[in-house]
Amino acid sequence: MLITNATLITWDDPNRVLDQHALYISGELIADIGPMAELEARYPQAERLDAAGQYVMPGNICAHTHFYGAYARGLAIPGSAPKDFPEILQKLWWPLDKALTLEDVRTSAEVMVLDAIRHGTTTLVDHHASPNAIDGSLDVIAEVVESAGMRAVLCYEVTDRNGPDGAKAGIRENVRFLKKLAERDSLRLPHIAGLLGLHAGLTLSGETLDACRQAVAEDVGFHIHAAEHESDEYDSLAKSGLRVIDRLYQHKILGSMSVVAHAIHVDAREINLLAETGTWVTHQPRSNMNNGVGAAPVESLMRAGVPVCIGTDGFSHTMWEEWKTAYLLHKVWHRDPRRMNGNDVVAMGVYNNASMAGMFFPQARLGVLAPSAHADIILVEYHPHTPLTTDNLPWHILFGFNESMVTTTIVHGKVLMKDYRVLTMDEHAVTANARSRAPQVWERYYAQF
Ligand SMILES: [Zn+2]
Repeated sequence: MLITNATLITWDDPNRVLDQHALYISGELIADIGPMAELEARYPQAERLDAAGQYVMPGNICAHTHFYGAYARGLAIPGSAPKDFPEILQKLWWPLDKALTLEDVRTSAEVMVLDAIRHGTTTLVDHHASPNAIDGSLDVIAEVVESAGMRAVLCYEVTDRNGPDGAKAGIRENVRFLKKLAERDSLRLPHIAGLLGLHAGLTLSGETLDACRQAVAEDVGFHIHAAEHESDEYDSLAKSGLRVIDRLYQHKILGSMSVVAHAIHVDAREINLLAETGTWVTHQPRSNMNNGVGAAPVESLMRAGVPVCIGTDGFSHTMWEEWKTAYLLHKVWHRDPRRMNGNDVVAMGVYNNASMAGMFFPQARLGVLAPSAHADIILVEYHPHTPLTTDNLPWHILFGFNESMVTTTIVHGKVLMKDYRVLTMDEHAVTANARSRAPQVWERYYAQF
Protein backbone atom coordinates (compact mmCIF):
# COMPACT_ATOMS: atom_id res chain seq x y z
CA MET A 1 0.00 0.00 0.00
CA LEU A 2 1.31 3.42 -0.99
CA ILE A 3 0.31 6.38 1.21
CA THR A 4 0.57 9.44 -1.02
CA ASN A 5 0.24 13.20 -0.65
CA ALA A 6 1.48 13.14 2.94
CA THR A 7 3.51 15.33 5.24
CA LEU A 8 5.56 12.78 7.15
CA ILE A 9 6.57 13.28 10.78
CA THR A 10 9.15 10.53 11.10
CA TRP A 11 9.96 10.69 14.86
CA ASP A 12 13.38 9.49 13.80
CA ASP A 13 16.28 10.90 15.82
CA PRO A 14 16.64 13.70 14.82
CA ASN A 15 13.02 14.08 13.81
CA ARG A 16 12.15 15.09 10.25
CA VAL A 17 9.02 16.72 8.81
CA LEU A 18 8.83 15.87 5.09
CA ASP A 19 6.34 17.62 2.81
CA GLN A 20 4.82 16.04 -0.30
CA HIS A 21 6.17 12.62 0.56
CA ALA A 22 4.91 9.08 0.23
CA LEU A 23 5.34 5.92 2.26
CA TYR A 24 5.17 2.38 0.91
CA ILE A 25 3.98 -0.46 3.17
CA SER A 26 4.76 -4.06 2.31
CA GLY A 27 3.14 -6.64 4.58
CA GLU A 28 3.49 -5.54 8.19
CA LEU A 29 6.50 -3.27 7.62
CA ILE A 30 7.30 0.08 6.08
CA ALA A 31 9.29 -0.73 2.93
CA ASP A 32 10.15 2.66 1.47
CA ILE A 33 9.88 6.40 2.12
CA GLY A 34 10.57 9.21 -0.33
CA PRO A 35 9.30 12.16 -2.34
CA MET A 36 5.83 11.40 -3.69
CA ALA A 37 6.72 11.53 -7.39
CA GLU A 38 9.63 9.11 -6.91
CA LEU A 39 7.60 6.54 -5.00
CA GLU A 40 4.63 6.77 -7.38
CA ALA A 41 7.01 5.95 -10.23
CA ARG A 42 8.64 3.13 -8.27
CA TYR A 43 5.38 1.42 -7.18
CA PRO A 44 2.91 2.09 -10.03
CA GLN A 45 0.78 -0.98 -9.25
CA ALA A 46 0.46 -0.36 -5.49
CA GLU A 47 -2.90 0.18 -3.87
CA ARG A 48 -3.12 3.91 -2.99
CA LEU A 49 -4.20 5.64 0.19
CA ASP A 50 -4.40 9.38 -0.50
CA ALA A 51 -3.51 11.25 2.69
CA ALA A 52 -4.81 14.47 1.07
CA GLY A 53 -2.16 16.60 2.75
CA GLN A 54 -2.62 15.13 6.23
CA TYR A 55 0.24 14.57 8.65
CA VAL A 56 1.33 10.94 8.61
CA MET A 57 3.24 9.81 11.68
CA PRO A 58 3.94 6.78 13.87
CA GLY A 59 1.01 5.68 16.03
CA ASN A 60 1.18 6.69 19.67
CA ILE A 61 2.28 4.24 22.35
CA CYS A 62 0.74 3.95 25.81
CA ALA A 63 3.29 2.66 28.33
CA HIS A 64 0.86 1.77 31.15
CA THR A 65 -2.89 1.21 31.11
CA HIS A 66 -5.66 -0.89 32.65
CA PHE A 67 -8.30 -2.20 30.25
CA TYR A 68 -10.23 -3.62 33.20
CA GLY A 69 -11.05 -0.11 34.44
CA ALA A 70 -13.57 0.53 31.66
CA TYR A 71 -16.59 -0.05 33.92
CA ALA A 72 -15.44 2.66 36.36
CA ARG A 73 -16.80 5.33 34.04
CA GLY A 74 -19.93 6.86 35.59
CA LEU A 75 -19.75 4.58 38.63
CA ALA A 76 -20.69 6.35 41.89
CA ILE A 77 -18.55 5.32 44.87
CA PRO A 78 -20.90 4.67 47.82
CA GLY A 79 -20.55 6.58 51.10
CA SER A 80 -18.20 9.46 51.72
CA ALA A 81 -15.66 10.33 49.03
CA PRO A 82 -12.31 8.52 49.41
CA LYS A 83 -9.95 10.81 51.29
CA ASP A 84 -6.69 9.45 49.88
CA PHE A 85 -5.25 6.92 47.43
CA PRO A 86 -5.44 3.87 49.77
CA GLU A 87 -9.16 4.60 50.18
CA ILE A 88 -9.57 4.91 46.41
CA LEU A 89 -8.08 1.41 46.07
CA GLN A 90 -10.34 0.02 48.80
CA LYS A 91 -13.56 1.73 47.72
CA LEU A 92 -13.19 1.73 43.95
CA TRP A 93 -10.59 -0.49 42.29
CA TRP A 94 -10.53 -3.56 44.52
CA PRO A 95 -14.30 -4.09 44.67
CA LEU A 96 -14.55 -3.25 40.96
CA ASP A 97 -11.93 -5.74 39.80
CA LYS A 98 -13.63 -8.42 41.95
CA ALA A 99 -16.92 -7.74 40.15
CA LEU A 100 -15.54 -8.74 36.74
CA THR A 101 -16.36 -12.02 35.02
CA LEU A 102 -14.34 -13.30 32.04
CA GLU A 103 -17.00 -11.88 29.74
CA ASP A 104 -16.65 -8.45 31.43
CA VAL A 105 -12.88 -8.72 30.94
CA ARG A 106 -13.58 -9.22 27.25
CA THR A 107 -15.99 -6.29 26.91
CA SER A 108 -13.80 -3.89 28.87
CA ALA A 109 -10.83 -4.83 26.68
CA GLU A 110 -12.99 -4.28 23.59
CA VAL A 111 -14.03 -0.84 24.80
CA MET A 112 -10.47 0.19 25.60
CA VAL A 113 -8.94 -1.18 22.40
CA LEU A 114 -11.63 0.57 20.37
CA ASP A 115 -10.86 3.79 22.23
CA ALA A 116 -7.16 3.38 21.34
CA ILE A 117 -7.83 2.79 17.64
CA ARG A 118 -10.05 5.86 17.47
CA HIS A 119 -7.44 8.01 19.19
CA GLY A 120 -4.40 6.84 17.24
CA THR A 121 -2.73 4.80 19.97
CA THR A 122 -1.36 1.66 18.33
CA THR A 123 0.62 -0.07 21.12
CA LEU A 124 -0.75 -0.61 24.62
CA VAL A 125 1.05 -1.93 27.71
CA ASP A 126 -1.77 -3.31 29.85
CA HIS A 127 -1.84 -4.33 33.51
CA HIS A 128 -4.83 -6.58 34.20
CA ALA A 129 -6.75 -7.63 37.34
CA SER A 130 -9.92 -9.73 37.69
CA PRO A 131 -9.51 -11.77 40.92
CA ASN A 132 -12.70 -13.78 40.35
CA ALA A 133 -11.81 -14.57 36.73
CA ILE A 134 -8.07 -15.10 36.62
CA ASP A 135 -7.56 -18.31 34.62
CA GLY A 136 -7.56 -17.57 30.90
CA SER A 137 -8.10 -13.83 31.36
CA LEU A 138 -4.95 -12.96 29.41
CA ASP A 139 -6.10 -15.20 26.54
CA VAL A 140 -9.41 -13.34 26.44
CA ILE A 141 -7.63 -9.97 26.28
CA ALA A 142 -5.17 -11.25 23.68
CA GLU A 143 -8.07 -12.43 21.51
CA VAL A 144 -9.60 -8.95 21.61
CA VAL A 145 -6.27 -7.27 20.78
CA GLU A 146 -5.50 -9.68 17.93
CA SER A 147 -8.93 -9.64 16.35
CA ALA A 148 -8.92 -5.81 16.45
CA GLY A 149 -5.48 -5.88 14.79
CA MET A 150 -3.75 -4.03 17.61
CA ARG A 151 -0.39 -4.44 19.37
CA ALA A 152 -0.13 -4.96 23.15
CA VAL A 153 2.05 -6.11 26.01
CA LEU A 154 -0.06 -7.99 28.57
CA CYS A 155 0.28 -9.21 32.15
CA TYR A 156 -1.85 -10.25 35.11
CA GLU A 157 -1.27 -8.40 38.40
CA VAL A 158 -0.19 -10.79 41.15
CA THR A 159 -1.26 -9.68 44.62
CA ASP A 160 -1.63 -11.13 48.13
CA ARG A 161 -4.78 -9.14 48.84
CA ASN A 162 -7.00 -12.09 47.84
CA GLY A 163 -5.14 -14.69 49.89
CA PRO A 164 -2.39 -17.19 48.98
CA ASP A 165 -4.58 -19.01 46.44
CA GLY A 166 -5.29 -15.73 44.64
CA ALA A 167 -1.56 -14.95 44.48
CA LYS A 168 -0.77 -18.45 43.17
CA ALA A 169 -3.52 -18.21 40.55
CA GLY A 170 -2.10 -14.87 39.40
CA ILE A 171 1.40 -16.29 39.01
CA ARG A 172 0.01 -19.34 37.21
CA GLU A 173 -1.88 -17.16 34.71
CA ASN A 174 1.23 -15.10 33.87
CA VAL A 175 3.43 -18.19 33.52
CA ARG A 176 0.89 -20.03 31.40
CA PHE A 177 0.42 -17.04 29.10
CA LEU A 178 4.16 -16.32 28.76
CA LYS A 179 4.76 -19.97 27.87
CA LYS A 180 2.05 -19.83 25.24
CA LEU A 181 3.61 -16.68 23.74
CA ALA A 182 7.02 -18.34 23.67
CA GLU A 183 5.62 -21.31 21.75
CA ARG A 184 3.90 -19.27 19.04
CA ASP A 185 4.78 -19.49 15.38
CA SER A 186 8.23 -17.97 15.02
CA LEU A 187 7.63 -17.17 11.34
CA ARG A 188 4.99 -14.60 12.16
CA LEU A 189 5.70 -11.13 13.55
CA PRO A 190 4.18 -11.17 17.04
CA HIS A 191 1.43 -8.70 17.91
CA ILE A 192 1.32 -9.62 21.60
CA ALA A 193 4.09 -9.76 24.17
CA GLY A 194 4.05 -10.40 27.91
CA LEU A 195 5.48 -9.42 31.27
CA LEU A 196 4.89 -10.79 34.75
CA GLY A 197 2.44 -8.41 36.43
CA LEU A 198 2.65 -7.42 40.09
CA HIS A 199 0.18 -5.12 41.81
CA ALA A 200 2.36 -3.02 44.15
CA GLY A 201 4.77 -3.61 47.01
CA LEU A 202 2.07 -2.82 49.53
CA THR A 203 0.02 -5.90 48.61
CA LEU A 204 2.96 -8.27 48.06
CA SER A 205 4.88 -10.27 50.63
CA GLY A 206 8.58 -11.07 50.24
CA GLU A 207 7.65 -14.72 49.66
CA THR A 208 5.31 -13.82 46.81
CA LEU A 209 7.91 -11.51 45.22
CA ASP A 210 10.43 -14.37 45.36
CA ALA A 211 7.90 -16.85 43.98
CA CYS A 212 7.30 -14.48 41.04
CA ARG A 213 11.03 -14.08 40.38
CA GLN A 214 11.52 -17.85 40.46
CA ALA A 215 8.49 -18.51 38.27
CA VAL A 216 10.02 -16.99 35.14
CA ALA A 217 13.34 -16.91 33.32
CA GLU A 218 15.89 -14.18 34.04
CA ASP A 219 15.04 -12.32 30.83
CA VAL A 220 11.35 -11.94 31.69
CA GLY A 221 10.54 -8.50 33.09
CA PHE A 222 7.96 -7.32 35.61
CA HIS A 223 5.27 -4.64 35.44
CA ILE A 224 4.51 -3.15 38.87
CA HIS A 225 3.18 0.01 40.53
CA ALA A 226 5.65 1.56 42.98
CA ALA A 227 5.72 4.65 45.21
CA GLU A 228 2.39 5.86 43.83
CA HIS A 229 1.53 7.07 47.34
CA GLU A 230 3.54 7.48 50.55
CA SER A 231 1.76 4.43 51.95
CA ASP A 232 3.73 2.18 49.58
CA GLU A 233 7.00 3.49 51.06
CA TYR A 234 5.81 3.20 54.69
CA ASP A 235 4.42 -0.29 54.10
CA SER A 236 7.74 -1.37 52.59
CA LEU A 237 9.73 0.12 55.48
CA ALA A 238 7.47 -1.64 57.99
CA LYS A 239 7.70 -5.00 56.18
CA SER A 240 11.39 -5.03 55.36
CA GLY A 241 13.18 -1.97 56.70
CA LEU A 242 13.77 -1.01 53.08
CA ARG A 243 12.22 1.68 50.89
CA VAL A 244 10.06 0.22 48.15
CA ILE A 245 12.52 0.47 45.22
CA ASP A 246 15.31 -0.99 47.41
CA ARG A 247 12.97 -3.82 48.34
CA LEU A 248 12.11 -4.55 44.70
CA TYR A 249 15.84 -4.48 43.92
CA GLN A 250 16.53 -6.96 46.69
CA HIS A 251 13.92 -9.32 45.24
CA LYS A 252 15.43 -8.92 41.72
CA ILE A 253 12.31 -7.32 40.28
CA LEU A 254 14.08 -4.34 38.67
CA GLY A 255 15.99 -4.46 35.37
CA SER A 256 16.01 -3.38 31.77
CA MET A 257 12.95 -5.52 30.94
CA SER A 258 10.92 -4.26 33.92
CA VAL A 259 8.39 -1.45 34.06
CA VAL A 260 7.66 0.54 37.24
CA ALA A 261 4.54 2.70 37.11
CA HIS A 262 4.54 6.07 38.92
CA ALA A 263 7.70 6.29 41.14
CA ILE A 264 6.32 9.45 42.71
CA HIS A 265 7.62 9.22 46.29
CA VAL A 266 11.08 7.85 45.51
CA ASP A 267 14.18 9.31 47.16
CA ALA A 268 17.61 9.97 45.62
CA ARG A 269 18.92 6.45 46.30
CA GLU A 270 15.83 4.89 44.77
CA ILE A 271 16.24 7.07 41.66
CA ASN A 272 19.84 5.84 41.37
CA LEU A 273 18.74 2.22 41.71
CA LEU A 274 16.19 2.66 38.93
CA ALA A 275 18.90 4.23 36.75
CA GLU A 276 21.57 1.63 37.55
CA THR A 277 19.25 -1.24 36.75
CA GLY A 278 17.92 0.38 33.55
CA THR A 279 14.33 0.00 34.81
CA TRP A 280 11.61 1.77 32.81
CA VAL A 281 9.43 4.20 34.76
CA THR A 282 6.04 5.32 33.47
CA HIS A 283 4.46 8.68 34.23
CA GLN A 284 0.65 9.07 34.35
CA PRO A 285 -0.06 12.69 35.26
CA ARG A 286 -3.85 12.60 34.74
CA SER A 287 -4.20 9.65 37.11
CA ASN A 288 -1.80 11.23 39.63
CA MET A 289 -3.81 14.46 39.65
CA ASN A 290 -7.10 12.58 39.92
CA ASN A 291 -5.82 10.54 42.88
CA GLY A 292 -4.15 13.53 44.52
CA VAL A 293 -0.92 11.57 44.95
CA GLY A 294 1.55 14.28 43.90
CA ALA A 295 3.87 14.62 40.92
CA ALA A 296 6.75 12.27 40.14
CA PRO A 297 10.23 13.87 40.09
CA VAL A 298 10.30 13.30 36.33
CA GLU A 299 13.05 15.76 35.48
CA SER A 300 15.30 14.38 38.24
CA LEU A 301 14.59 10.81 37.13
CA MET A 302 15.53 11.65 33.54
CA ARG A 303 18.61 13.61 34.59
CA ALA A 304 19.75 10.57 36.59
CA GLY A 305 19.38 8.46 33.45
CA VAL A 306 16.07 6.73 34.19
CA PRO A 307 14.10 6.16 30.97
CA VAL A 308 10.71 7.71 31.80
CA CYS A 309 7.75 6.85 29.56
CA ILE A 310 4.15 8.09 29.47
CA GLY A 311 1.06 5.99 30.13
CA THR A 312 -2.63 6.64 30.76
CA ASP A 313 -3.34 4.39 33.77
CA GLY A 314 -6.72 3.46 32.30
CA PHE A 315 -7.76 6.95 31.26
CA SER A 316 -8.81 7.24 27.61
CA HIS A 317 -5.91 6.34 25.29
CA THR A 318 -5.54 9.96 24.25
CA MET A 319 -1.78 10.24 24.50
CA TRP A 320 -1.53 13.89 23.49
CA GLU A 321 -3.95 14.72 26.33
CA GLU A 322 -1.56 12.93 28.66
CA TRP A 323 1.38 14.87 27.17
CA LYS A 324 -0.46 18.15 27.73
CA THR A 325 -1.21 17.21 31.31
CA ALA A 326 2.46 16.37 31.94
CA TYR A 327 3.45 19.68 30.36
CA LEU A 328 1.06 21.64 32.60
CA LEU A 329 1.25 19.64 35.85
CA HIS A 330 4.94 20.18 36.49
CA LYS A 331 4.63 23.90 35.88
CA VAL A 332 1.90 24.35 38.48
CA TRP A 333 3.46 21.80 40.89
CA HIS A 334 6.75 23.75 40.94
CA ARG A 335 5.12 27.13 40.29
CA ASP A 336 7.65 27.65 37.51
CA PRO A 337 6.75 27.88 33.78
CA ARG A 338 10.25 26.75 32.83
CA ARG A 339 9.65 23.25 34.16
CA MET A 340 8.79 20.32 31.86
CA ASN A 341 10.01 21.59 28.51
CA GLY A 342 8.09 20.40 25.43
CA ASN A 343 11.18 18.52 24.27
CA ASP A 344 11.20 16.57 27.56
CA VAL A 345 7.58 15.57 26.94
CA VAL A 346 8.59 14.30 23.49
CA ALA A 347 11.62 12.50 24.97
CA MET A 348 9.22 10.55 27.19
CA GLY A 349 6.11 10.22 25.03
CA VAL A 350 7.87 9.50 21.74
CA TYR A 351 11.41 8.24 22.13
CA ASN A 352 11.29 6.47 25.50
CA ASN A 353 7.87 4.97 24.83
CA ALA A 354 9.14 3.65 21.49
CA SER A 355 12.31 2.20 23.06
CA MET A 356 10.37 0.53 25.85
CA ALA A 357 7.65 -0.94 23.64
CA GLY A 358 10.30 -1.83 21.06
CA MET A 359 11.99 -4.17 23.53
CA PHE A 360 8.93 -6.40 23.34
CA PHE A 361 8.74 -6.35 19.52
CA PRO A 362 12.43 -6.43 18.55
CA GLN A 363 11.85 -7.85 15.07
CA ALA A 364 11.68 -4.30 13.64
CA ARG A 365 11.87 -0.70 14.85
CA LEU A 366 8.75 0.65 16.53
CA GLY A 367 7.46 4.22 16.79
CA VAL A 368 9.32 5.59 13.79
CA LEU A 369 8.66 6.11 10.08
CA ALA A 370 11.68 4.45 8.47
CA PRO A 371 12.28 1.66 5.97
CA SER A 372 11.87 -1.77 7.60
CA ALA A 373 10.14 -0.34 10.71
CA HIS A 374 6.79 -1.74 11.91
CA ALA A 375 3.97 -0.16 9.88
CA ASP A 376 2.05 1.32 12.84
CA ILE A 377 0.92 4.65 11.42
CA ILE A 378 -1.71 7.35 11.94
CA LEU A 379 -3.07 10.09 9.69
CA VAL A 380 -3.79 13.42 11.37
CA GLU A 381 -5.96 16.19 9.93
CA TYR A 382 -4.24 19.26 11.34
CA HIS A 383 -4.06 22.62 9.60
CA PRO A 384 -1.58 24.83 11.45
CA HIS A 385 -2.08 28.57 11.21
CA THR A 386 1.63 29.16 11.91
CA PRO A 387 4.63 27.38 10.36
CA LEU A 388 5.19 23.86 11.70
CA THR A 389 8.86 22.81 11.84
CA THR A 390 10.85 20.02 13.46
CA ASP A 391 11.89 22.55 16.14
CA ASN A 392 8.44 23.75 17.14
CA LEU A 393 6.50 20.51 16.54
CA PRO A 394 6.28 19.62 20.28
CA TRP A 395 4.41 22.86 20.93
CA HIS A 396 2.12 22.39 17.93
CA ILE A 397 1.19 19.04 19.42
CA LEU A 398 0.82 20.41 22.96
CA PHE A 399 -1.30 23.41 21.94
CA GLY A 400 -2.79 22.41 18.60
CA PHE A 401 -3.21 18.66 18.15
CA ASN A 402 -5.99 16.62 19.62
CA GLU A 403 -6.94 13.00 19.13
CA SER A 404 -10.17 13.76 17.24
CA MET A 405 -7.87 14.85 14.39
CA VAL A 406 -6.75 11.22 13.93
CA THR A 407 -8.69 10.08 10.86
CA THR A 408 -6.92 6.83 10.03
CA THR A 409 -5.12 4.22 12.13
CA ILE A 410 -2.87 1.53 10.68
CA VAL A 411 -1.24 -1.28 12.71
CA HIS A 412 0.94 -4.08 11.29
CA GLY A 413 0.32 -2.50 7.87
CA LYS A 414 -3.42 -3.12 8.19
CA VAL A 415 -5.93 -0.28 8.16
CA LEU A 416 -7.96 -0.50 11.40
CA MET A 417 -9.73 2.87 11.01
CA LYS A 418 -10.16 4.77 7.75
CA ASP A 419 -11.61 8.29 7.66
CA TYR A 420 -13.00 7.83 11.20
CA ARG A 421 -14.65 4.50 10.36
CA VAL A 422 -13.35 1.60 12.46
CA LEU A 423 -13.01 -1.42 10.18
CA THR A 424 -11.96 -4.24 12.51
CA MET A 425 -14.55 -3.77 15.26
CA ASP A 426 -18.27 -3.05 15.21
CA GLU A 427 -18.11 0.16 17.17
CA HIS A 428 -21.80 0.42 17.98
CA ALA A 429 -22.10 -3.23 18.96
CA VAL A 430 -19.05 -3.03 21.26
CA THR A 431 -20.39 0.07 23.02
CA ALA A 432 -23.96 -1.23 23.28
CA ASN A 433 -22.81 -4.60 24.58
CA ALA A 434 -20.60 -3.04 27.27
CA ARG A 435 -23.39 -0.67 28.28
CA SER A 436 -25.88 -3.51 28.60
CA ARG A 437 -23.49 -5.43 30.88
CA ALA A 438 -22.56 -2.45 33.06
CA PRO A 439 -25.59 -2.65 35.44
CA GLN A 440 -24.67 -6.26 36.38
CA VAL A 441 -21.03 -5.33 36.95
CA TRP A 442 -22.05 -2.38 39.09
CA GLU A 443 -24.51 -4.56 41.04
CA ARG A 444 -21.72 -7.02 41.90
CA TYR A 445 -19.56 -4.01 42.88
CA TYR A 446 -22.21 -2.52 45.23
CA ALA A 447 -22.95 -5.94 46.76
CA GLN A 448 -19.49 -5.81 48.41
CA PHE A 449 -20.35 -2.81 50.62
ZN1 LIG B 1 -1.77 1.67 37.03
